[in-house]
Amino acid sequence: MSQRKEISLSGMRTTGALHIGHYLGAMKNFIKFDAEYDSFLMLSDLQALNDNFVNKGKMKDSVTEILADLYALDLKNTTIFIESEIGQIPELTMYFSNLVTVNRLLRNPTIKSEMSSKKELFGENGESVNLGLISSPVSQTADICIVKATRVPVGEDQLPFLEVGRDIVSKFNTLYGEGGEVLPIFEPVLTPTPRILGLDGSTKMSKSLNNSISLKDTSEITLEKIKKAKTDSESHISFEPKNRPSVSNLVLIYSAFSDTDVETVVNEFKLSNFSTFKNALAELINRKLKHFRERRNYAINNISILNEIKKNGHNKVNVIAQNTLLEVKNAMGINY
Ligand code: ATP
Ligand code: MG
Repeated sequence: MSQRKEISLSGMRTTGALHIGHYLGAMKNFIKFDAEYDSFLMLSDLQALNDNFVNKGKMKDSVTEILADLYALDLKNTTIFIESEIGQIPELTMYFSNLVTVNRLLRNPTIKSEMSSKKELFGENGESVNLGLISSPVSQTADICIVKATRVPVGEDQLPFLEVGRDIVSKFNTLYGEGGEVLPIFEPVLTPTPRILGLDGSTKMSKSLNNSISLKDTSEITLEKIKKAKTDSESHISFEPKNRPSVSNLVLIYSAFSDTDVETVVNEFKLSNFSTFKNALAELINRKLKHFRERRNYAINNISILNEIKKNGHNKVNVIAQNTLLEVKNAMGINY
């Protein structure tokens, strides 16, 4: 008997165009899973609203940006859809919300770091945090379960969310599965570079923190940003993530884009100064992203392609989501 194909789902918050952190941390697996699995990519606009509910207009622009980024990856089989277009996701979030304590969510390291990086919104000590942010691991679990995903390609920062999610699903199955599994337990999948630091030296390259190289950036902007990237007071290239995080991050980016190990990169640039290394890094990134950027520009100038992707994705996921919800409600005994 042939084994059932794995199903993968990954989400991107609609907070701006994707960056090289996404590419190295998650998107490389999108490309791999496109061929191997039933693969879904979701634009997480509901999750993006948690800290952007005052920024009307940002979601729409970001949806276009991210659709164009995903189109540029040239995926053949992957289904791309938008979170808010699937009404069963908030419904499933509601059912899941009884299966986790508020205390556990408040202790979640990813929520804590979101709160502390946005103090102007959530208060000095998180006193103004909204329910949306606290419950985002719960809605993320619903995103994953709505298509019954078994694999979730993510960056390292998302692991604490997935841990909560796996416990929610496990509790759901124990309560309502009558000894079996209504919803599959999913596994996170990381790349060898699960956390790319910001160019400013902060602990994560992030759309919202203005410390990234967007995949869509021109060659000139890429070079400019890399020239300004933080280094340190020493003058040579080495890979020592603890002692020299910023320089090591640039070495790691070079190694990931060139598919070589960090030792080879350090060896290649052991006699170079920062300026030579940075020029080479910009040249490498620009070369590797040339095709991507051309495809992306084409999509931006032919928006109807993106609308078509969005429509097809919605139609497909809508049917799947209806079936999942029916099974969930039957299992819970709330289908009257
Ligand atoms: P925001 O700051 O708005 O949260 P973001 O840059 O963190 O934006 P997300 O949409 O939250 O982007 O993340 C999408 C996916 O990319 C997630 O799986 C996340 O873990 C991964 N990712 C994001 N930033 C990085 C990074 N710097 N290194 C590795 N993976 C990353
Ligand atoms: Mg994020």
